[in-house]
Amino acid sequence: MKKGTVLVSGGAGYIGTHTAVELVAAGYGVVIVDNLANSEACAVEGVRRITGIEVPFEQVDACDGQALRGVFEKYGFVSAIHFAAFKAVGESVADPLKYYRNNLTSFMNLCALMHEFGRSDVVFSSSATVYGQAGVLPVTERSPRLPATSPYGNTKQMAEDILRDCCAAYACMRGIALRYFNPIGAHPSTLIGELPRGVPQNLVPYITQTAAGIRPCLSIFGNDYPTPDGTCLRDYIDVVDLARAHVAAVDRMTQGRMEASYEVFNIGTGRPVSVLELVEGFERANGVEVPRKFAPRRAGDVPAVWADTRLAARALGWQAVRPLEETLRTAWAWEKRIRGIK
Ligand code: NAD
Ligand code: UDP
Repeated sequence: MKKGTVLVSGGAGYIGTHTAVELVAAGYGVVIVDNLANSEACAVEGVRRITGIEVPFEQVDACDGQALRGVFEKYGFVSAIHFAAFKAVGESVADPLKYYRNNLTSFMNLCALMHEFGRSDVVFSSSATVYGQAGVLPVTERSPRLPATSPYGNTKQMAEDILRDCCAAYACMRGIALRYFNPIGAHPSTLIGELPRGVPQNLVPYITQTAAGIRPCLSIFGNDYPTPDGTCLRDYIDVVDLARAHVAAVDRMTQGRMEASYEVFNIGTGRPVSVLELVEGFERANGVEVPRKFAPRRAGDVPAVWADTRLAARALGWQAVRPLEETLRTAWAWEKRIRGIK
């Protein structure tokens, strides 16, 4: 049965494309809005090929309120998922205004138009970065948010607060913030995946590019952390599982199952994995070697963070299901496809 239509802002990006695919699979219509600041139009083609549907795409900057208004006038969606943002932590430290302007203006434009047009449901892409180094692990949604260590992290905290306040003030509005842990992997079709520009900042794209011979050696940042093998612990979540969490959030809103007008959920696996375990797991899963060396700690990294996933399981009826080994296979399959490696 056809459900409503969902506006997916930033829908040509890594997580947005996977979410668009899962929304269509679940029976939703999708409209993708993206200015292609960090993506390519071919990503939308990938979504169309996987779904077999000519998913509408509007090349619009969400910071341009008039242009975004045009999208609201053209399509009758009731739900929106806001992925559109810049996400490079280091760049946000070097150029904070670029981040505050893009990440917050785009989101405030979206919220204002949702309110004005009487559209109710907003899902926001937040991040485990809001927890900083939590005193108690795993983190629950009630764990305190610690002061952000970068302007990027600060935009996530501020946007959560904007959504919370809008939902409290505007009777028609409901919001869910999903705090992602570490999204990795690609769609099993290899038609969509992560397309980092320049030198990858994140671990898995760096691993796949090293395995592909594009980078000579992976630097493991820090091996003297207070963790079992000395490297940092993270909660790596498969991007298709993550995409399905968005479907669960939209279902919860459209089916009137929310317990408050604004809710927050951790989206992770609940399993801590060290950097070394991840690299070795990648080698085992794919039968390839990843040259590596230990390097000094990276500024701003927290030693360990992983999710308590019980609330998402209970309220969203969602949990991560894909084994890490399979996820690491999709990451390598995607890298090979885009590099033309057999
Ligand atoms: P991405 O860069 O692949 O996707 C973001 C998309 O938004 C891009 O296609 C980009 O072109 C678009 N965009 C940026 N500014 C825009 C604007 N003003 N108007 C229209 N489109 C715009 O990143 P992603 O990894 O898919 O991340 C999606 C969201 O999830 C972001 O908000 C990010 O901060 C958040 N998030 C990502 C991670 C991660 O590790 N990937 C972790 C936690 C949270
Ligand atoms: N990391 C690393 N080498 C790299 C990139 C990342 O050792 O080239 C480590 C990083 O220090 C952190 C983990 O991998 O402990 C995950 O980093 P990522 O940037 O992917 O995500 P984060 O948890 O920082 O958001």
